[in-house]
Amino acid sequence: METKIKELESRVKGEIILPQHKNYDEARSIYNAMIDKRPSIIVKCKDREDVVAAVNFARENGLEVSIKSGGHNGAGLALVNDGLVIDLSEMKAIEINADNKTAKIQPGRTLAEVDKATHEYGLALPSGIIGTTGVAGLTLGGGMGYLSRKGGLTIDNLLEAEVVLATGETVTASASDNPDLFWALRGGGGNFGVVVSFTFNLIPIKNIYGGPMFWPVEKAEDAMKFYDTMLKNASDDLYGFFAFLIVPPGDPFPEHLHMKRVCGVVWCYTGPMEKAEEVFRPIREFGPPILDFVGEMPMPALNGLFDGLYPSGMQWYWRAHYINELTDGCIQENIKHGSNTPSVRSTMHLYPIDGKVHEVSREDTAWANRGARWAQVIVGVSPEPTDADKITKWCKDYYEGMKPHAAGGGAYVNFMMEEGQERIKAGYKGNYERLTKVKKQYDPDNFFHINQNIVPAR
Ligand SMILES: Cc1cc2nc3c(=O)[nH]c(=O)nc-3n(C[C@H](O)[C@H](O)[C@H](O)COP(=O)(O)OP(=O)(O)OC[C@H]3O[C@@H](n4cnc5c(N)ncnc54)[C@H](O)[C@@H]3O)c2cc1C
Repeated sequence: METKIKELESRVKGEIILPQHKNYDEARSIYNAMIDKRPSIIVKCKDREDVVAAVNFARENGLEVSIKSGGHNGAGLALVNDGLVIDLSEMKAIEINADNKTAKIQPGRTLAEVDKATHEYGLALPSGIIGTTGVAGLTLGGGMGYLSRKGGLTIDNLLEAEVVLATGETVTASASDNPDLFWALRGGGGNFGVVVSFTFNLIPIKNIYGGPMFWPVEKAEDAMKFYDTMLKNASDDLYGFFAFLIVPPGDPFPEHLHMKRVCGVVWCYTGPMEKAEEVFRPIREFGPPILDFVGEMPMPALNGLFDGLYPSGMQWYWRAHYINELTDGCIQENIKHGSNTPSVRSTMHLYPIDGKVHEVSREDTAWANRGARWAQVIVGVSPEPTDADKITKWCKDYYEGMKPHAAGGGAYVNFMMEEGQERIKAGYKGNYERLTKVKKQYDPDNFFHINQNIVPAR
């Protein structure tokens, strides 16, 4: 193997990192510190040719392969024990075409970097809520965040992808080139190949009116009902995700609220700024809120608001559902667990996925949950490794309790741990079978299987 690795080294421009190297531990560390995997080779690709060389090397030598972009996947699917990691974090080219309102982005970019680049042109890509997340993994799973109601999922804004297949061949996927692959990439995750370039549509957004608003947790029942009705009747310009949390003991939160259990909504209004106060008047009248940090700010400021609270290297355990309705039972179950979060950063978010997301039909992309109103994520988070069992148990109990109130048996693949084939199938609903056929066409040997795996049709 040593000679073969030397040969690979002579073929790629990027660094090859092996277990005996000084920077091995750094290179194998990802966002979730609960994950401790030991790959045998990490290839830090510089360009598409490096990716082709890494894919060919792994295939020819029978090595399992994982794909790492932002390294944020909760289940740690960016890494593989004893296999080869195709690390794309150094592929960071980004080109904005302001006239066409498009962006061509390599997979090593994070959401904060994309935000900063597009914001200069008064444009934005609908994506996620934490800036350090990788644009690549987020997109391939679907991509939801503050602009979902206004601009759809991230995949609804994907125009083209360049993909290195298991054979080492590079193909383009778009509405006109390899349309089946393009369909599957939009929600099917890293199952079909390594995406080395994404071209997105951007939407005109510069400043928004938003931020967090909290109420005492004792008001959660009324707050959830108010939030539900408010959003149901609002235009797609108004977005807000509901949360349960403990107020962190530090800036910018006022001292009298530190460590208090609260519920809240993080709002994002993208309509005319002169109308914002009017839109928020009834919201401010409810409660009233015990914290109101809602105001006008640049889009990237909202997108990065919680980055400091969630640095890399903490313990994370995830569970997720889709929710159609906030029935009384659903609200009570949420309050039961949400008002007992086990640590300061542990939380539950309800991300709205209606509005523009519902304008695309279930058959149009692999992402199948176009009828649900929320993607729910339950996350146990702590900087302390000794809290791992506690946060995991809380998360699993919450998830189990929510089962009778959830839509179907599946969840958003980007919010799942390794939960088995039935959960993956359930998440893709009626689209799973078509996905297995596309998988058979583009990756018949299931070379790319370190992911929420779609098994090729027989
Ligand atoms: C703090 C935090 C906040 C988050 N917030 C949101 C949110 O607001 N909205 C949302 O939708 N999701 C959110 N997520 C979930 C996020 O979408 C997933 O974790 C996603 O996997 C992150 O992408 P990544 O590139 O960082 O992942 P990585 O861990 O690098 O990769 C994860 C998987 O994606 C696939 N993949 C990655 N890059 C490629 C590629 N170039 N080609 C082919 N396959 C690839 C592979 O299967 C890989 O195993 C959040 C996650 C975290 C940790």
